[in-house]
Amino acid sequence: MRTVVCAEPGHMTLEQRDSPSCGAEEALLRIRRIGVCGTDIHAYGGNQPYFSYPRVLGHELAGEIVEVGSEGDPDLVGKRAYVIPYLHCGECRACRHGRTNCCQRMQVIGVHRDGGMCDTLAVPLDHLVVSDTLALDQLALVECMAIGAHAVHRSELATGELAVVCGAGPIGMGVAQIARERGAQVVVIDTNPERLAFCREKLGITLTLNPNEDDIDTALKGLSDGELADVVFDATGNPAAMQAGFDLVGHAGRYVLVSIVKADISFSDPDFHRKELTLLASRNATRADFDQVIQLMESGRLKADAMITHRAELADVPEHMPAWCTPATGVVKAMIELDNPLDNPHQEPRHEPDHCQ
Ligand SMILES: [Zn+2]
Ligand SMILES: [Zn+2]
Repeated sequence: MRTVVCAEPGHMTLEQRDSPSCGAEEALLRIRRIGVCGTDIHAYGGNQPYFSYPRVLGHELAGEIVEVGSEGDPDLVGKRAYVIPYLHCGECRACRHGRTNCCQRMQVIGVHRDGGMCDTLAVPLDHLVVSDTLALDQLALVECMAIGAHAVHRSELATGELAVVCGAGPIGMGVAQIARERGAQVVVIDTNPERLAFCREKLGITLTLNPNEDDIDTALKGLSDGELADVVFDATGNPAAMQAGFDLVGHAGRYVLVSIVKADISFSDPDFHRKELTLLASRNATRADFDQVIQLMESGRLKADAMITHRAELADVPEHMPAWCTPATGVVKAMIELDNPLDNPHQEPRHEPDHCQ
């Protein structure tokens, strides 16, 4: 089968590998969509802290179940499904407390082990979720949106609160949409005017601020009777921005760091104490976060596929990856579509019915 391998930072190749076999507690998923995530882009760029190479990327996965192991329900064959890519151990303290998203021995498909940039992937049955209603594009974006749902869950954001989202990438856009669903007043901050216009026009997030054009402190005070944000979410992936975010949180506020950087973050302790801030990390997502996203998608309130700006076929990923890593190309979310050989008669020898018998 075709497999796209990130051999080392900055270098991807298309290879042929053996198709996986199906374990008793697994199913084989014929991959049909792969969302390209900031994690993939950082892995390709060599600045993702949890990576080793070579690695097959791809964890935002949707497809069709083509085989079910002996422990599974054979009726699942032919169903559309998405993948919960977080393989947790189920035994460590985090898992025992239901915090499976930050398992001590976490193995994320496409991060710590080979992922879905290939034709067929073996996935543990309990990490596949079938859907009869949602389209493949939507299913491939559930994981990305679940990251946002988890961050909002961590913040305990309440109706009417002022939520500031720093960073208008797909994760920030997800956080902003879920925060709006919670009934918060949402402000998105980014230095990229196109990304801010995208939030306003495609996602209906009307309050946007650009630090290069707006006085952020004055604007946020104007929206909050001088009290600043109840909750700030960082989704910038930028250490300087993460540090600056502390100043946007008001007294008794919460600061949620969603993006991960390879750096130390420092802050003013007198300010931190004076405001008695709550600082939270948000990593991955739990099953409840995935379920919430599915519910919002099914009700039509979360249009994740509005974020898709670029598309390519699996074999063309090595060629497109550099552009997908360049915000100037206008990329928000790239989606890999698989012309699976099994669907495409031009790539598979056709067995025409015999006319002369
Ligand atoms: Zn992702
Ligand atoms: Zn664990």
